[in-house]
Amino acid sequence: MSIEVARKAVDFYLDKKISGNERNLGLTFFGGEPFLELDLMEDVVAYSRRARPNCYKKIRFSATTNGTVASPRVERLVRDAGMGLLISFDGTHESSESRPFASGRDAYDVVERNLPRLLSWTHLGMVRMTFHPRSLDFVSNVKHAIALGARSIALCPVIEAQWDGYEHAVEEAYQALAEFYMNEARRGRPPGLEVTVRALHDHHAAMVRGTLPSRPCAVGTFLLGIDPSGGVMPCHRFPYRKHDWLGTVDSPDLSPERERFTRLSTDDFPDCARCSARAICGGGCRAVALNAGLALNEAHPAYCMLTRAHERAVRRIYETLMEERNKALLQMLAVPIGDRGALGELATR
Ligand code: SF4
Repeated sequence: MSIEVARKAVDFYLDKKISGNERNLGLTFFGGEPFLELDLMEDVVAYSRRARPNCYKKIRFSATTNGTVASPRVERLVRDAGMGLLISFDGTHESSESRPFASGRDAYDVVERNLPRLLSWTHLGMVRMTFHPRSLDFVSNVKHAIALGARSIALCPVIEAQWDGYEHAVEEAYQALAEFYMNEARRGRPPGLEVTVRALHDHHAAMVRGTLPSRPCAVGTFLLGIDPSGGVMPCHRFPYRKHDWLGTVDSPDLSPERERFTRLSTDDFPDCARCSARAICGGGCRAVALNAGLALNEAHPAYCMLTRAHERAVRRIYETLMEERNKALLQMLAVPIGDRGALGELATR
């Protein structure tokens, strides 16, 4: 992305037609590896501070990073901008997909070494732990990340992977995670598993107030993506679906097609009406569903299999610890999910 486009993106974003009266905006750098574009990132942070000096809107910055770039200049930028970090780290070496540098050298050792440092530079540091059918040892992976300093971990599947035949293994993995969560909660230190904690809150809301998630995700509403040419996407996951793009950063007047996304309601998802996971799920990622050839209101079968297994684990944690009047769970449920801005949205979807 050129600096010119990046600055236009900031202006676009501050425009009332785009962000309305919202005072707290989140801007996330997403790649590729954003810290390879430090000139651009520094410029965007500085420009955002200069742009519209009387503007009441505040931008909070974050970046998703593969954890390979942790130079003093990156540290200065992260600290100076109060930048949140979402760091890709999949757990133990055995569970991690090979991520080689251009030279062919595996990046794992570098990321493992950088992780504690990156996390120490920000109060909003989260590990994005992506899993696939061959990395279902959640407990070992989560423990390893915690040992390296992670306090907040988003455990998210590669939905597009081939999950057929792994249903039993997925069930066992989530039940083992539930066991781990409960044991840690009994010791007064429940792990910061972002996705599970959100699901526990959703489950609790369904039990106490009867409320259910009303949307699949934030696509096209309070989450938009900007591609390097300035194209406005319904979210960051649409770079290869140009026909779904909504306009450009040159104008805050987006295509009326945006309504397809803003009007999305889980009530319009035929598969979800009687689903056992409904308390914690509103339909799942739309980009993944569309890429699989499904309609905007259709559920993705692999996503559903994984979500239902997660829901059973969440229900078990909730019912067991409630029965035990577990203090850590009750305290966690009493505090609303903190506002993590765009980072929270990207981490957990
Ligand atoms: S698991 Fe699938 S069917 Fe169930 S609520 Fe979620 S998207 Fe809908």
